[in-house]
Amino acid sequence: MEIDHPESNEKASPNSIPAINLLMDPNYNLTLQEIARKFPKSVNKLIKGYISITADSEENRNNTLKYLNENDKEYILSERQEDRPLKIVFKNLPITHSTDLIKQDLKSKNFKIIRIGQLKDFKTNPPPHPIFLFEIAKTENSKNIYNIKTVNFLNVKIETYRKTNKATMCFKCSRFHHSARNCMRKAKCIKCAKNHETKDCPTKTKIDTPKCINCQETGHLASWRGCPKFPIITLPKNKPSYAQTENQPN
Ligand SMILES: [Zn+2]
Ligand SMILES: [Zn+2]
Ligand SMILES: [Zn+2]
Repeated sequence: MEIDHPESNEKASPNSIPAINLLMDPNYNLTLQEIARKFPKSVNKLIKGYISITADSEENRNNTLKYLNENDKEYILSERQEDRPLKIVFKNLPITHSTDLIKQDLKSKNFKIIRIGQLKDFKTNPPPHPIFLFEIAKTENSKNIYNIKTVNFLNVKIETYRKTNKATMCFKCSRFHHSARNCMRKAKCIKCAKNHETKDCPTKTKIDTPKCINCQETGHLASWRGCPKFPIITLPKNKPSYAQTENQPN
């Protein structure tokens, strides 16, 4: 489990096999026994409440995943540094600018966009700066993104995204420290705490007095960065930061 910890990013060596982080259920020991029987060279280690399973080959990793899926186990995948998307921000676009238009433009320039969202700079209060966050798949071309001068005929400023000191919240299971693209846990809705993604919640309207599923207080949802239970992570440098808002429902 490294997703959110900048200091551990450096440890990932290019050829290492990414770990599978198993959620501990009452039968975790049986699961480990079975994995040890099938793949005796796997190494298991308790990390941040998950059992981090590292296979000795890509093939055994895939077979371990198959075994876990067949047995309905929940887990989170670690990700190789080189598989993580490039995160960049676009500045100076109008706040109401269509993200579809930006996508079309970037696609035509051969960039593979994974995700797009708008950010709020919480240090300027209000109005927020129009800042767009892009996750771009690392390809041969991806580094060229920094050479882009205009998008949709408008001058833009492109920068590397700097993390905030608040953790990533997974928009699938609503837990912290990992992204939905690596999440094989059951979905959990922050509006009603049922097993669906928040975006699929039957409650589509804004809730007047939302109850936070993490701190149990009323008045905010668990995605609110001011929630007392929202984890703060230690960043190496004191850089200005932006907060992510693209997954916050209503
Ligand atoms: Zn998740
Ligand atoms: Zn719901
Ligand atoms: Zn809360």
